[in-house]
Amino acid sequence: MEVAGKKVLVMGAARSGIACAKFLLAGGATVALNDAKPFEKWSAEAQALRGEGVGCLDGDVPSWLLDQIELLVISPGVPTKAIPIRYAERAGAEVIGEVELASRYLKGRIVAITGSNGKTTTTQLTGELLKDAGLPTQVGGNIGTPLISLVETSRDDGWTVVELSSFQLETIKEFHPAVAAVLNVTPNHMDRYESFTDYAAAKHRIFMNQTPGDLAVLNADDEIVSSWGAGLRAHVSSFSVKRELEEGLFLRGREIVVPAGDGERILMNIAEMKLRGLHNVENVLAALSVGLACGASPESMRETVRRFEPVEHRLEFVTEIEGVKFYNDSKATSVDATLKALEAFQDDDGKVVLILGGRGKKAPYAPLASLVREKVRKLILIGEDAETIAEELGECATFERGSDMREAVALSFQAAEEGDTVLLAPACASFDMFDSFEHRGRVFKEEVSSLEFRVSSSKPDQELGAAPSLQSENSKLETRNPKLK
Ligand code: ADP
Repeated sequence: MEVAGKKVLVMGAARSGIACAKFLLAGGATVALNDAKPFEKWSAEAQALRGEGVGCLDGDVPSWLLDQIELLVISPGVPTKAIPIRYAERAGAEVIGEVELASRYLKGRIVAITGSNGKTTTTQLTGELLKDAGLPTQVGGNIGTPLISLVETSRDDGWTVVELSSFQLETIKEFHPAVAAVLNVTPNHMDRYESFTDYAAAKHRIFMNQTPGDLAVLNADDEIVSSWGAGLRAHVSSFSVKRELEEGLFLRGREIVVPAGDGERILMNIAEMKLRGLHNVENVLAALSVGLACGASPESMRETVRRFEPVEHRLEFVTEIEGVKFYNDSKATSVDATLKALEAFQDDDGKVVLILGGRGKKAPYAPLASLVREKVRKLILIGEDAETIAEELGECATFERGSDMREAVALSFQAAEEGDTVLLAPACASFDMFDSFEHRGRVFKEEVSSLEFRVSSSKPDQELGAAPSLQSENSKLETRNPKLK
């Protein structure tokens, strides 16, 4: 694709928009960058583009400009159905997203990974599997590094592993992954899609340009995803944690099995993994399926899976204070992700004190009811949706309201008994109280470590000779009444 001399408008002046503007400018295009936010609120990096020859434009794009542009590159946050986009398309512009633009220049082969939950974990793990197996590999997309900034370092003999959101998939055209995986499809982003079918259809686009030489990796346990198998052009490899498959990886007991020729091969035991929960076994099966297809050796992949730590804010172990473990799953921004997080602790002896709440996504909390009843010692509710959650789950467990994260952590520790787990898995977005889920997770971890400090500094001096059990009891009682301090 030739961009030199083309008039291009990039919509969205955040990370991927900035990277696109730079790429197009370097390629000799005439570039305008637009964002709905007033220019003063753009990031310093976006504002600096003005000095480099990019036309920076805030607010609505005038129709005279839309009339002239030949290529419109839209960021994932910009709805494809927006009127200016329709207008530009009518006026003759090609409309694509950053992923599509990048894919027209990327060398080598692409692994694309999508799903409602588990994308980042699976993408990160897949990247590690391929790298450790000695394959030239780079990782990008929705995970953080815009794909367009990986163009320069891509190699003909290499792999680019890319995490894709449904928004990014809406604006692909010729994007053609050699391996494409869909982990699951559950209701999410229903504020942007008219129906669940529309959302699922956006995910399905990942297979749109695949041919019989390519591979589609599907979750056999997901009703919707597995139903796609029969209609795809690519070769299909499924994975399952629930049943044995003739072709594709599956879980038998605690062993990961891959059918091989006439027999089968045990790849590893899930007890070796540092990742917790059956949902993470699904992610591992998906990543291993991709790894096998790309030529990574089973031995090397086993080592990598054994070493792989949870990605930050995804069921991340924080610390243990007086027999109470703390886990940060701030990325659990949907009811489904929270359900998976709770399931990961289902077989533990202790109970869970669950911190829930934030900006709700208008999805019912009812799917959590039976597990909350079975496993949760207490709910600590935070944020805008606290009342709704109390209405919907208040019958299933006792609950208390935390006005901020500090109080939520203190209340959780008060409620927890030795052997319990305090789990931040809020089932909500973070924007009512925090900048992002990362911010929420960091604040949680800070509050947990400040609690740890308070607990350890309130312990009587061991030298003074009180019985250790009593000391520990004393210190716990003190911190369990933090307001008394
Ligand atoms: P994504 O990038 O799709 O948001 P992450 O790997 O960041 O996925 O995980 C997001 C949240 O979903 C986390 O809270 C995690 O515990 C949960 N999760 C991860 N994998 C799965 C899965 N396969 N199914 C359901 N939930 C999952």
